[in-house]
Amino acid sequence: MSGAPQEREAAAARAAALRREIARHDHAYYVLDAPEISDDAYDALVRELRDIESVFPDLVTSDSPTQRVGAPPSSQFAPVTHAQRMYSLDNAMDLGELDAWLARVGDVVGERECAFVCELKIDGSSLSLTYEDGVLVRAATRGDGRTGEDITANVRTIRDVPLRLHEAADGDAASPATRGAVEVRGEVYLPLAAFERINAENEEAGLPLFANPRNAAAGAVRQKDPAVTASRELATFVYQVVDARRALGVARQSEALEWLRRAGFHVNPDVVVCASADEVRAYCTSAVDKRDALPYEIDGVVVKVDSFALQDELGYTSKAPRWAIAFKFPAEEKTTVLRDIRVQVGRTGALTPLAEFDPVTVAGSTIARATLHNADEVARKDVRIGDTIIVRKAGDVIPEVVGAVAGMRPEGAEPWRMPEACPSCGGPVWRPEGEAVTRCTNVACPAQRLERLEHWASRGAMDIDGMGTEIITRLVERGLVHDVSDFYLLDESTLATLDMGRVKQDGTPVVLGPVVAAKLVAAVDVSRTRPLARVIFGLGIRHVGSTVAEVLAEEFGSIDALIEAASADVPTPGEGVSVAAALAADPIARVEGVGPAIAASVRAFLGNPDNQALLARLAERGVRVAEERRGPTEPQTLAGLTFVLTGALDRFTREEAATALKRLGAKVSGSVSKKTSFVVAGADAGSKYDKALALGVPVLDEDALVRVIETGEPPVAPSG
Ligand code: AMP
Ligand code: ZN
Repeated sequence: MSGAPQEREAAAARAAALRREIARHDHAYYVLDAPEISDDAYDALVRELRDIESVFPDLVTSDSPTQRVGAPPSSQFAPVTHAQRMYSLDNAMDLGELDAWLARVGDVVGERECAFVCELKIDGSSLSLTYEDGVLVRAATRGDGRTGEDITANVRTIRDVPLRLHEAADGDAASPATRGAVEVRGEVYLPLAAFERINAENEEAGLPLFANPRNAAAGAVRQKDPAVTASRELATFVYQVVDARRALGVARQSEALEWLRRAGFHVNPDVVVCASADEVRAYCTSAVDKRDALPYEIDGVVVKVDSFALQDELGYTSKAPRWAIAFKFPAEEKTTVLRDIRVQVGRTGALTPLAEFDPVTVAGSTIARATLHNADEVARKDVRIGDTIIVRKAGDVIPEVVGAVAGMRPEGAEPWRMPEACPSCGGPVWRPEGEAVTRCTNVACPAQRLERLEHWASRGAMDIDGMGTEIITRLVERGLVHDVSDFYLLDESTLATLDMGRVKQDGTPVVLGPVVAAKLVAAVDVSRTRPLARVIFGLGIRHVGSTVAEVLAEEFGSIDALIEAASADVPTPGEGVSVAAALAADPIARVEGVGPAIAASVRAFLGNPDNQALLARLAERGVRVAEERRGPTEPQTLAGLTFVLTGALDRFTREEAATALKRLGAKVSGSVSKKTSFVVAGADAGSKYDKALALGVPVLDEDALVRVIETGEPPVAPSG
């Protein structure tokens, strides 16, 4: 119902007003850190705008806040040639090098006055943003300085990046805020809180951890799916206007920063204009003390000559401007005494040596232990118990042992050796040929057991609400739970009397009690219906994180089918067998997103008769071991066909339609390519529909889709 013209006009005006107001609140919240309205009120504004835009889709503008996330995933980033090269910076590693640079600048400046701007050096990833007529049109990475990558869709999701410049940037009608093009540059970074959250999530999901926020930020802006970038909660600091004199008519870096602030960018508040070299030195020395208190990482101070005219006189080397220098903070290192190297046993049986040392404060927090990863690492660093060791924080976050102070080794200190028996169960340990990691081979190892049980109950896996470490520990101690299948035998009366190992003031033991017991039994029961992917993930098979588990569940549909695939005879590449042939013969490794290493781990797990028995018990006790809807009886009449769904359907949601198609053996993809067999276009179909036409992919309407689903017959491509 795209009403009368007046109605449309009114809607356009309302949408524009809403957009302005939402942008203003984004700025207040993300840049100024001073929200003016409640989250609910903000959401209401966005909802009203969305409603208008869904009635009048042609009113959607690229700078609409509803467009921050919305671009489809893309498989590659187009190259962007930088109009002006993105230089790196020369470093001053200490005050001496800083002085040398100040002296070189002094030689050129002579008797003239020369102010400097000192800015914090944000440890993130460089970013270029281009605005045309005030609207963000392109975001790019630095790349090699001459050519970067187009990451516009991802950067749009960063909430402190203005999609439109504030017109109040200056009153001038010819200002870049309203007319012409302007490029600004800055740093995109991951706040420490987001970094810690992401690593905690990755740890829970068994995924590799990011070494530091910088790597995490660089990875996040290069995500294929903008929705993933959005979930990372990146932020920016903008510190440069390209060709500021021409673009803004200003003469100094400090003035350019002022303009950036007015235009709505997030400019770092710790900028200081220094009138002399002495002030620069003082700022650089004092900035070190700031770093621990900031909610983001900095790795130094950037000192820039304020005047653009003097910048021009100083010019550039082949790599960096001569008018700026990065004063780098020393990586903070401390010495302490190594008291012990303890071995931890993980859920997958890995034995990890852990250095335990006298507590020291490094880069703002107290640390007392650091992982030494594996036996090779201990040998390489040659640290021995009793040694005076040097510790630091890698990427200023993760505690790390650098090495030992050779001259301070106590007499008789022996090289450390990995124990031959598991410190948890006393079972034999094993280090596979060519691997760095030593493992306990005992499947019933209690250290592994507790972690396995916790992992099964965790949020990303079976999500048994309330089944935390303490209760699981008690259940194991009381002999009530040995493996994950035992959760499903627990009853309320047993749980209600579970001794929590503490006593009340009157000396009676604390028990779990009937209320918690009933909740736990209900939570265990609910977990029986978790999708197959969660079950596979919950088993804690090495290398099988939640994504791989989903792929396996999707591909095989049941534990039985997976066990069968795992029992296939797979040739080892080598003598007469090519890697490709081995891969083709491996029903698990050839699944997209899996590969030989994961397949080998799945085979090792499922080939173990103890584990098969465990899976049989789980099935017996009502845990879902096959995808519900996909019976082997359903004829796979659409096998080999790929569908893409676009637009709104009347009779089902897109997800329902996708499930129905998949049940018949079809693949359903999110993007149109030459390999797409059919595009199903509902109401208001967008770019996917256009792409289908361009590629000559046949398009079906909803009626045709209903026929396919009801009859199970593959669609007939409309001719022509
Ligand atoms: P480097 O990568 O060590 O050569 O340092 C140069 C990089 O520091 C630049 O490419 C920017 O990405 C980054 N940087 C961080 N903060 C600033 C700042 N305030 N001014 C200029 N560059 C900065
Ligand atoms: Zn063990």
